[in-house]
Amino acid sequence: MHILTARPLSVAASKPPLRLFLSLLLLLGSSWGVLADCSAARAAAPPAADDIAAATGEPVAAKEAEPPAEPLDGRAGRELLLRNFRPQPQLRVAETQVAIARFPVVDVHTHMFYRQRHNEQALEDFVALMDRNRIAVCASLDGQLGSQLEEHLDFLWEDYRNRFIVFANLDWMGDGDPDKPATWACNRPGWAERSAERLVEAAERGVSGLKIFKRFGLEYRDAEGKLLRIDDPRWDPIWEACGRTGLPVLIHTADPSAFFEPLGPENERWEELSRHPDWHFHGGDFPSRMELLEARNRVIARHPKTQFIGAHMANSAEDLRLVQKWLDDYPNLWVEPASRISELGRQPYTARDFLIRNADRVLFGTDGPWPETRVRLYWRFFETRDEYFPYAENEFPPQGFWRIYGVHLPDDVLRKIYHENAAKLIPGVAERLAAWREAKE
Ligand SMILES: [Zn+2]
Repeated sequence: MHILTARPLSVAASKPPLRLFLSLLLLLGSSWGVLADCSAARAAAPPAADDIAAATGEPVAAKEAEPPAEPLDGRAGRELLLRNFRPQPQLRVAETQVAIARFPVVDVHTHMFYRQRHNEQALEDFVALMDRNRIAVCASLDGQLGSQLEEHLDFLWEDYRNRFIVFANLDWMGDGDPDKPATWACNRPGWAERSAERLVEAAERGVSGLKIFKRFGLEYRDAEGKLLRIDDPRWDPIWEACGRTGLPVLIHTADPSAFFEPLGPENERWEELSRHPDWHFHGGDFPSRMELLEARNRVIARHPKTQFIGAHMANSAEDLRLVQKWLDDYPNLWVEPASRISELGRQPYTARDFLIRNADRVLFGTDGPWPETRVRLYWRFFETRDEYFPYAENEFPPQGFWRIYGVHLPDDVLRKIYHENAAKLIPGVAERLAAWREAKE
């Protein structure tokens, strides 16, 4: 066994007796499958590769391996690769297809540039989807600043100014060399002050908020090559400017818990991380997930006049008691569920209690534009009592091997989450909602 796990390929070459050879082949096959996933992962993103090899303890030599002669498809007594697993539930329960949201919706988390680039047809198709689903307004979080912001506003607002609001982003790198953090704009004196001025100008131009991406805390570095800290007081002028001008800060910090855990058979997102090794933040000089979240919380505490929207349920959807504590501690914190109905829906009792209790602090978000099937799963999650249904349209669940349950929220809670809270918090929403309603009537 030791030889088999440590050097699987030399076993096949060593010509053992036939019976032993066949049983070894089965074991070897399953081992090879795991290795194949990891080596593909290595090729895709070099920085995380060593990490995966280290975490799994698998030999690197497997990259040159010949594939097994038989498909590991679980048929006819063969082993089954995890990525080939397609269980079809035999459960038969009521299914409610919700084709349209019960009340008008403001989706505060979409990526109209990163997911669609500036494709006119994709935009038209998505607006038609919004119409069919009763989505009145979407926030595009991909505004950037300067000429890119102008392009994004032109693209969305030429025909659909009433349907889209835009969040700006900071320009950390500027004209610096991506490989030399010492040359990045954010490491030059006065950058935060200059950025704050540009945000005030962006607000005058009609921008509705600031989006901070997760790279902040996990990727951006200072002149010495150390990761930039979210709570570094150097950035305070930015948070202050957002407070002064009434721009909420939608902040994505850290990621699901499993992305910070070692990558082994215990990791509940193993399959996903094997496809996206760059989402794995364990080891190296990565801070822990809690260090990142606590740094973010210190910023929120230090700037009580600035409103912060914790993207993806403030990235603690796996532990809503913690999110509750944060909401209790920081009255200027809001949360939104983009790409987290997968988490909320596997704890429907806890999630329902949480959403009802915090109905005034939860906004609606999806992380789209998504295909219509996925958009409609959000309505099904929030509005029905359906049991054990998929949270995404993919054949294979993309964010964990489970299904979800609906939380059937009461109408008054649904209205708040779907649009009323966004209209209160985010500049530009209330007037667009009113215009949308008028156009419908
Ligand atoms: Zn997003």
